[in-house]
Amino acid sequence: MSKTYIVGNWKMNLNVGESSLYLHKLLKRLKIARGVEVVIAPTTLALQPLSLQIDRKRLKLAAQNCYYQDFGAYTGETSISSLKGIADYVIIGHSERRNIFKETDKDIRNKVAAALRNNITPILCIGETESEKTFGETEDVLRDQLLGGLSEVSTEDLKKVIIAYEPVWAISSTKGARLASPDDVAASVKIIKDQLKALYGKAADDMPLLYGGSVNPSNAGAYLMIPGINGLLIGGASLIADHFIDIIDVARRVIK
Ligand code: PEP
Repeated sequence: MSKTYIVGNWKMNLNVGESSLYLHKLLKRLKIARGVEVVIAPTTLALQPLSLQIDRKRLKLAAQNCYYQDFGAYTGETSISSLKGIADYVIIGHSERRNIFKETDKDIRNKVAAALRNNITPILCIGETESEKTFGETEDVLRDQLLGGLSEVSTEDLKKVIIAYEPVWAISSTKGARLASPDDVAASVKIIKDQLKALYGKAADDMPLLYGGSVNPSNAGAYLMIPGINGLLIGGASLIADHFIDIIDVARRVIK
């Protein structure tokens, strides 16, 4: 049975103390769920203390970003090699990194390769913006982002990569974004799967594909039931431990 991933991206929220309290609450309520991989992505500063508190049988840690060089004169960056033993996953190419920090496909490709080299699973985010969708460019954007992010990934390594489809126009509905319908998501799943098949053939069948964009406890089930979707990447709703746990419970019920 393939795993269902429930990944909470806390972004630049919750300080170290708040993160630790959240984790404490989560660990009190979280049972081992066969088939559900629960992952939280706190700020970089909180990763190390949480790695000492976490129970890896029930929960894993993700970094929200990394730099691809192992060391050197890169002020303010965190190397992926320094995350070894601390983070199990790393989110790469999130739309906020692409749009606010102007990360390019080359940066993203180097980060994916560095994560694989260091045995940390990359969660490669792709997704079109509102205007790209309006101008009918979704297919081209998803293809370019996949080609860009995966160009250093061999067929053999493909099974160590997770893709997260996050339409930028559907991120943060609490701040005005629209919700993607399951049909919208299914159409993009087809584009992504076709592209991966063209690139990697049969090996693409087993590559996990997550959905992200204003997921909450009420809509999580509908997104998880879309064929080809193997999990969720959750921003805002993951900041409230009770909501995150409710989404994990939904995942448990959906895979039963
Ligand atoms: C995200 O930014 O990855 C995300 C999915 O955020 P939200 O769930 O808040 O839309």
